[in-house]
Amino acid sequence: PKDENFLKANNARHLWHPMTHPADHHRNPPTIVTGGQGVRITDIDGHSVIDGVGGLWNVNLGYSCQPVKDAIAGQLDELPYYSIFRGTSNDKVIELAEALKDFFAPDGLSRAFFTSGGGDSVETALRLARQYHKIRGEAGRIKFLSLKKGYHGTHFGGASVNGNANFRTMYEPLLPGCYHIPAPYPYRNPFNESDPARLAQLCLQALEDEIAFQGAGTIAAMIMEPILGAGGVIVPHESFMPGVAEICRKNGILLIADEVITAFGRTGAWSGSRLWGVQPDMMSTAKAITNGYFPFGATMISDGVAEVFEKDETGKAAIGHGYTYSGHPVGAAAALACLAETQRLDVAANAKARGAELFAGVQALKDKYDVIGDVRGGYGLMVALELVSDRATKAAPDKATAAKVQQVAYENGAMVRVSGPNIILSPSLVLTADDVQGILGALDAGFRAL
Ligand code: PLP
Repeated sequence: PKDENFLKANNARHLWHPMTHPADHHRNPPTIVTGGQGVRITDIDGHSVIDGVGGLWNVNLGYSCQPVKDAIAGQLDELPYYSIFRGTSNDKVIELAEALKDFFAPDGLSRAFFTSGGGDSVETALRLARQYHKIRGEAGRIKFLSLKKGYHGTHFGGASVNGNANFRTMYEPLLPGCYHIPAPYPYRNPFNESDPARLAQLCLQALEDEIAFQGAGTIAAMIMEPILGAGGVIVPHESFMPGVAEICRKNGILLIADEVITAFGRTGAWSGSRLWGVQPDMMSTAKAITNGYFPFGATMISDGVAEVFEKDETGKAAIGHGYTYSGHPVGAAAALACLAETQRLDVAANAKARGAELFAGVQALKDKYDVIGDVRGGYGLMVALELVSDRATKAAPDKATAAKVQQVAYENGAMVRVSGPNIILSPSLVLTADDVQGILGALDAGFRAL
């Protein structure tokens, strides 16, 4: 093993970090994490803190989930890899597809296409949506709609439906035919409407206008997160997603729920679609499907979409899409164990209870510190604090402000995530009420230090 000084000195020499300027880690060295236990992480200098980020919204069961570790180790002994491309399958992936069919039955989803992560699950859904329309003889339906502020990964398809310029500009031209609708984001929106219910109606009207403008017959699918995560935990009014589903249905447009973050209990419901009472045509999942312990994902498909592929007589339904690691047996074994633990521990109920405490706590911080312009959450363990330099103008503060809060919070016992002007909290779903208070206390210290 290399010593601590070697690791610190070499972090940025041969390693480029995602979403980071390659020079940044020389100027501002990252925290090097070396251990994880329960809901806590340990760094190379021996600090132990509560992980308020939950890995990256994915370590829902914490870092010590023994059944998942055992499942991975056991599967490595049994069969470490076999592909499920034409002609072969493996036992674990069959078992997993059955388990996911049961888990997602209330969402109306019964088929799984396995992937290596969230971006792959999104790409799969977008591609299958176009193919679905081609099989049905509507080859003109090729466009995609999505929400501004939405995040769908960084493959070319996902980046094209992304609604944040940071992930787009340097990589253009992206996929043609992708159009973005205003997000139901009461704190900032083009309608200057702060009432969530009225804003939802305005955004739905914008969706209908865009469909009329493009022509419904040109649109393959609408993709959206039930609660927008990376965009800053934007929580739509409860009428919004059902409204989107109805507009899509009326216009023959498939609805893809991007639940890479929201599936498996994070919102306090078992899926974000279920939270809002919507059955999507497809759902992209990843992250918590394996608790972050193995890169894995699944695109879930509804009976209605599946039927078009499975009853095809045109020959167009052969799937020309897939990954070497689609249906990886170790990932499948991990996912089966996660699903069992997720349900046994009823993590959705804990997410709901702890999420309410966390949200109440950040609301109290907002009352105390003017630098917090908006707080968002209220549905499980997805919470954001948006910082401003001035509450009246809502101008974003300089980058040093959130960085200072993060640094002092860390010194006081909690890792929190900075994303643009937002501080985002997405801890493991198994944390305790004391852990919640630990995160809030550390944040309070962070804001006090400004
Ligand atoms: N979709 C959503 C909603 C996400 O939050 C993410 C990642 O955060 C992705 C897609 C991309 O997933 P991955 O980073 O595993 O490719």
